[in-house]
Amino acid sequence: MLEFAGPEMIKEIRAQMILNGGHTCGGCSEVWTGLGRSHCGKCHRTFTTSNVFDQHRAINEQTSDHYCLNPESLDMISRDDIWRNKPSETFSWDEYNKE
Ligand SMILES: [Zn+2]
Ligand SMILES: [Zn+2]
Repeated sequence: MLEFAGPEMIKEIRAQMILNGGHTCGGCSEVWTGLGRSHCGKCHRTFTTSNVFDQHRAINEQTSDHYCLNPESLDMISRDDIWRNKPSETFSWDEYNKE
């Protein structure tokens, strides 16, 4: 019986991703691939582009502190742990999978 999601397996997948040019974060165990992806060092979410990343960052006008918004509250969706804007109002996963 194969163990598909054991810690050794995850370590192996991670090592493979890094070998294949994956990016890592110093603050969490996330590994992501793809040019232009933006990983947030605060909330440790990964975004499809720096543009989408910027949308989840907000500023507290009183303290001038930057903070992270929940992408769900911005109507973003996540796939393979990467957040992106919903392609359209009439979004459906069927449509998405055809991309
Ligand atoms: Zn964040
Ligand atoms: Zn991180």
